[in-house]
Amino acid sequence: MGGIPIKKLLLILLIIILCMGSLSHAAIPVNASSEKGQMYFDGSSLLYKFNRFAVNETDMISVQGLSALLFAQYSQNPSNKKIKISTETDSIVLQIGSKTAFINEMEYQLPVPVISSGKTVYVALDFAVLASSGQVEWDLSKNIAFTMPYPTLENHIIERGEHLTQFPYQTIIHSALPLGSLTLVSKDHPMSSEYIPSALSSVIDKNGRYVLPAKVKSVKLHPAALDALKKLFKAASSGGAKNLIISSGYRSFQDQTYFFNKKINTLSRGLDLKDARIKAATIVAPPGMSEHQTGLAVDITTRSLLRTAVPLSATFGNTPEGKWVNENCWKFGYVVRYQKEKTKITGIISEPWHLRYVGIPHAEIMKETGFCLEEYLEYIKKEKYIKYTTASHKTYEIFYINLIPPFENLTLVSDSNSYTDITRYGKTSYIVTKGS
Ligand code: ZN
Repeated sequence: MGGIPIKKLLLILLIIILCMGSLSHAAIPVNASSEKGQMYFDGSSLLYKFNRFAVNETDMISVQGLSALLFAQYSQNPSNKKIKISTETDSIVLQIGSKTAFINEMEYQLPVPVISSGKTVYVALDFAVLASSGQVEWDLSKNIAFTMPYPTLENHIIERGEHLTQFPYQTIIHSALPLGSLTLVSKDHPMSSEYIPSALSSVIDKNGRYVLPAKVKSVKLHPAALDALKKLFKAASSGGAKNLIISSGYRSFQDQTYFFNKKINTLSRGLDLKDARIKAATIVAPPGMSEHQTGLAVDITTRSLLRTAVPLSATFGNTPEGKWVNENCWKFGYVVRYQKEKTKITGIISEPWHLRYVGIPHAEIMKETGFCLEEYLEYIKKEKYIKYTTASHKTYEIFYINLIPPFENLTLVSDSNSYTDITRYGKTSYIVTKGS
């Protein structure tokens, strides 16, 4: 230690401070939130409207934006600041602070180093264009880059140019996405205690008359789910299943907490609290884990069973009503959510009375494939793109979009004539359904 003179130490310290100063200066060139750009999905193409900015007269673009356009895996090593963008065919390697970049191990020299600002990393625009050639189309005059989800799909040829003429977009749904019809709620996928559906429809009309038979007037459902249920009940009635009645619809997080605690109280007379809790969870979904919080689930039974001690029981499945519903609910966008054969996957016992609204193409595809919701979502994830024509000759397209890192400002754009639904699946993925 005595070997290093104090002056030299001070000099080293000064150099370190200066270096840090210049580094941090280079690292925060812009306001990240304003420079990130916006990701769009217009039902056919994934578009990135980027904000350009220059460093030493070189245009820069967000690496995360590029990664999302390439449907790539984005990884950043915090220790050496190395960034890897991997697509199915290509691998792009960058390093924050470095001018050296690699595309499939071929070295490229960047005009300015890769920089970071907050969580966003920026690279020279020209390099991004080069690295994405063949996979992303760029309109640099409009600051737009676009790609088609999974362009390898031969049956998915879109008039690319037309979508560009659609600016400005007609419908924009911001980060607070409405709940998609495929939303998965389970023990592994709990809902926020804060979540309340943005709209709910009641089983009674303005004059207090029932629009659908229900146990109590307070029953509410997601508007699309209620409309579909009206059609279902009407068809059931003409099909000989005349005595259907709603037992329960939307339940808030607080309602569910009440039911759950009530069940624990009942059970804790014979068991200790921990066991009572475990047992209760097998009978009543713990708060946040019930599909009823979405407004997309409904419990139905028959009028006569409603008068019994257990209106919601396996018995319902054996009534003409239960059988009819099981056979026909898919035509109205509903599925019997918890089937006997799927108990291992859903973690829930057979519940022939619990219907879940997933929407028309999905209910029909689930019926045809025999998938429960968990399986179906994984199927979409694997297929990435499904084009499906229903029995009633309507064509739907289903896209699985994975954006890494997640884009909070993903925007769904659709023309007002077409049906669209966007469901967030996991942290970074979206399932978009588009139909005519
Ligand atoms: Zn239920």
